[in-house]
Order: sequence, then structure tokens, then C-alpha cells
Amino acid sequence: METTVLKVNWDHPEKDKISLAASAIISGKIVVFPTETVYGIGANALDAAACRKIYKVKGRKSDNPLIVHVSSMRMADKIAIIPKRYRRQIESSWPGPITFVVRARKVLPRVVTGGLDTVAVRMPRCRIAIDLINTAGVPIAAPSANISKKPSSTKAKHALKYFMGKVPIIISSKDSTYGIESTVLDLETFEILRPGAFTAKSIKSIFGKSPHIYVPPHTIKSPPRSPGLKYKHYSPSTPLFAYTGDTIIAINEITSGMKNFCFVGSAESCRRVSAPHKISLGSRRRKATIAKNLFAALITLDGIGAEFCIIESFDNKGIGAAIANRIEKATNHRSFSTRRELDALLR
Ligand code: AMP
Ligand code: MG
Repeated sequence: METTVLKVNWDHPEKDKISLAASAIISGKIVVFPTETVYGIGANALDAAACRKIYKVKGRKSDNPLIVHVSSMRMADKIAIIPKRYRRQIESSWPGPITFVVRARKVLPRVVTGGLDTVAVRMPRCRIAIDLINTAGVPIAAPSANISKKPSSTKAKHALKYFMGKVPIIISSKDSTYGIESTVLDLETFEILRPGAFTAKSIKSIFGKSPHIYVPPHTIKSPPRSPGLKYKHYSPSTPLFAYTGDTIIAINEITSGMKNFCFVGSAESCRRVSAPHKISLGSRRRKATIAKNLFAALITLDGIGAEFCIIESFDNKGIGAAIANRIEKATNHRSFSTRRELDALLR
């Protein structure tokens, strides 16, 4: 398939290019486009056949529902039942990196909701995304622009790497502002199903109460309430392990004699760790920067050819909760703090 790459200005999207992409959406095609969280791969949410194509190119399981992106409350009302008691708070949170799970209306095809009677809805802030939805005049179902299980793309070049030749249009623009997906908040139970760029503290300040943090069950028998949680996620091909020891400098002793590994961590830690390959995520003092650089680092990692990679752990505060969640998923919960534990992981 031939892919048209449209270079679009982040702050002032060119109307002709947005119209071209919007017509593709209306005619049932899929379009890769930037948002402030990560790049998305979108289709008309009201067109089942178009949405099916998203699952196919991503290799996504059909029971893993898509987030529907809207550009106005009126559009949200058409596809979802927005609870009256939270309407004002939803309006204050949007546009932004928070997705609400609410009851779905019948107009939404089942393929979008993965067969559930609820739908995940978000109004993005990114001008390009909003203009695209507005111009198309339909809600756009869009998961993250990555091949299933792989790290999400936060840079146009990574979206191109995944989808060149596989989709008709890719909108290329600046890097995503947050670099981590939206927070998913279930409004029926007031639980965070997925931590994301919108912090629990911000939810508390807008809603006046703290959200619960949903912990998915570990058994197959009771599936998690957010279907996406049961799948492996964000994994680079290079085996990745989290270091959970107390002092970062201990990594040097733990890895002594090991020749071909990579260390991913804060700039401060990169200066102290001696590893054959290092990828800095930016200063530890700016967690927003760490979040922004995380997925890109995991994609870069796979180009290095290291035998394995050690990633530093980060605390759970603020956006740290989302960073820690993505690292847990990317490492598939594999962590170590001693040489013996690392050896066991490498066997
Ligand atoms: P992605 O589109 O790749 O950012 O992933 C969307 C996330 O939202 C996945 O973890 C889904 O399981 C979750 N999600 C989407 N729709 C629903 C829903 N109706 N109920 C619960 N979780 C949902
Ligand atoms: Mg995703």
C-alpha cells in the first residue's frame, strides 16, 4: 500500500492537509495522527469495517476496545451516556490526557467497544487531532499507533517505522507532549483502570475525591475489567529487566564482566553507571521528561543489538505512577537487585 506522509504544523495545522486526512477517515480509511499523549491510529468510530482495519494492522485482539476521540461534548453525547453528576468535572478535565469509561450508546459498533456495554471516551488537546475530528465530523476511534505489544510511538519517525506501507495516510508532526497514554478512569466505580498522563492528584482536585486504583486480578478465570490489561504490552525485543536495588552505583558491581548490555535511566544515573550502551531519559528531577522519553528509548533500544537491558525504577508519585506502570509492563514484571537474581533472569 502506498502511504502518503503529511507534514503538519503542530500549532497551526494546514487546512488542506487536515481536509485530505479527514476525507480519508470519512471514506472508511485509517489515518495515523499525533495527539498530546502518543501518536494514534484512527478510523471513523461509527464505521465497523473501518475500525476492524485498525485491529488488523495493529495485530490487536478483538476484545481489546478502542478509545473514541471526540472534539465536543455534543459529539460525546451522541456516542455515550455522560453521567449528569460528573458532567461539569468532565468538561473541566477536557480537552486533555484523561479517558472516561461510561455507558455506550447503540450507534457505536460492537467492534469499537470490544463487545462491552461501556465505551472509553476522550477529548484530546492536540490541535491536529481536534481539527481532524472536527473536519471529519465524526468521532475517531484510535488506539496507540504501535504494533500490538510493542512500545507506543511518541515520535513521527516511530509511527512511520511501524506503519509505512500499511496505512494510506500518516500525519507527521512534533513529538507527543506527554509521551505516555491517557489515564483511563471508570466513572461507574471511580477507579483508575490505567494510570496515565493525568495524575490522581489532578482527578482529586477536579472531582473533589480521590480515585481508587484498580488492581487487575492475576487469574485467567476472572478477566480484568479493562480488557487491555490482560495483554503483554510495550515490550522491546531486547530482554528488559528493572533494577530495584537501593543504590544505582551497585549496578556496576552486579554487571561486572558483562559485555553487551544497555542501561536505560535518568541522566544522573547514566553518569554513574558504566555500561557499554546507555540511553538517558533526561533528568530525574523532571519526571515529565522521563515520561516523554520512555517509549522512544525502548524503541531505540531495539536498534542497538544489546543482549539485554537494565532499566532504572522510578517512584510512584504523580506521573511516576504511569511511568512505573509502563516499566512493569515492558519488563513483564521482571526485576532484580542482586547478581544472583540477574543471572537467574538471563538463564
Ligand atoms: P490504547 O487504545 O492502546 O491506548 O488502549 C486503550 C485502553 O483502554 C486499553 O487498556 C483498553 O482495555 C481500555 N478500554 C477501552 N475501552 C474500555 C472500556 N469500555 N472499559 C474498560 N477499559 C477500556
Ligand atoms: Mg496501546
